[in-house]
Amino acid sequence: MSSEPQRDTVPFLDLVQPHLALEGELTEAFQQALRRAQFVGGPEVDAFEREFASHCGAQWCVGVNSGTDALRFAFIALGLKPGDEVITTAHTFIATTEAITQAGGVVRFVDIDYETMTVSPKAVGAAVGPRTVGIVPVHLYGQPADLDPLLDLARKHHLWVVEDAAQAHGARYKGRRVGAIGDVGCFSFYPGKNLGSLGEGGALTTLNPTLRDTVRMQREHGQSSKYVHETEGYNGRLHALQAAFLRIKLRYLDEWNQRRRQVAAWYREALKDVSEIQLPREASYAEHVYHLFVVRTNRRDALRDQLTHAGIGTGLHYPTPLHLQRAYAHLAVPQGALPETEDAAASCLSLPIFPEMTQSQVGRVADGIRSFFRVR
Ligand SMILES: *Cc1c(COP(=O)(O)O)cnc(C)c1O
Repeated sequence: MSSEPQRDTVPFLDLVQPHLALEGELTEAFQQALRRAQFVGGPEVDAFEREFASHCGAQWCVGVNSGTDALRFAFIALGLKPGDEVITTAHTFIATTEAITQAGGVVRFVDIDYETMTVSPKAVGAAVGPRTVGIVPVHLYGQPADLDPLLDLARKHHLWVVEDAAQAHGARYKGRRVGAIGDVGCFSFYPGKNLGSLGEGGALTTLNPTLRDTVRMQREHGQSSKYVHETEGYNGRLHALQAAFLRIKLRYLDEWNQRRRQVAAWYREALKDVSEIQLPREASYAEHVYHLFVVRTNRRDALRDQLTHAGIGTGLHYPTPLHLQRAYAHLAVPQGALPETEDAAASCLSLPIFPEMTQSQVGRVADGIRSFFRVR
């Protein structure tokens, strides 16, 4: 194996190609921004907010500085108070739960569904208690969580639902785009996301104008108008330059998501007879947008080493579930308490996926996996 010449590498993610392909448009937007010299807020941000709201089927969008800000501002706007409990998954990026704590809430972890690796509605139902105020489903890897049973629970117990859609721009739940199904949708435009800025960025989407107004104040030091502060707030605005770049990239989002779906279809075809690998399941209610293509195997670490050796980039999302992180030791959720979550963390492997990925690159990754498992 090591005597073979090193073949072409397959990166986990390629952020160069898509931006070079748009170099002319992005450069023109930069030149316009220089001449306009309105760098924070302004017409580009307003226009992006309108366009992104419309893409999600939401009434309103508020651009903010990051996905983490979007979550934090959503919780504050929903009136989260110290001691209020918010139910969510431990199989996610820490931003989801950091924002709950930073807004004054208490994180309550529940287990995930085996098929979708998103929060289990049954587990949520069992965890609702007198201090519960909200539920945060995470549309993980580009697949929506099962929202209807969560919305039923929310109606029954007077809870709110904040969708963490940071990995699922454009994904659909029963035909509707995520972000406008719960009370608030939170998006990240971190560069590697399906819609990424050229820096940091985020947004909230909602149908509720009162929430919209509170979030607009939160991102701007609690201001209702210049130097009139209703509360303390944050410096959490979306930069005009990022909004201008995002407006350009938003026009390609649907096409990029379709290409991600094509890459996923190629993987399915190329790996369908490798029984040691479990391919991601697309729920019957979902249109998955494959932010990540995550397979599962109980020989994950050895497979990952061999792929790395073959020049194939992979990732782990996420190797240690949040309830077992030192940051959440105070919650005292013991190992074994969330078995599906812990199993997912131990077995998941993210394969390369990006819109420009070719069928031959998918073939190279599949060959690496087939040779590891000695299939054909
Ligand atoms: C990326 C991400 C976030 C945070 O977004 P930032 O823009 O990096 O703050 C939140 N939740 C999930 C699930 C994410 O993947």
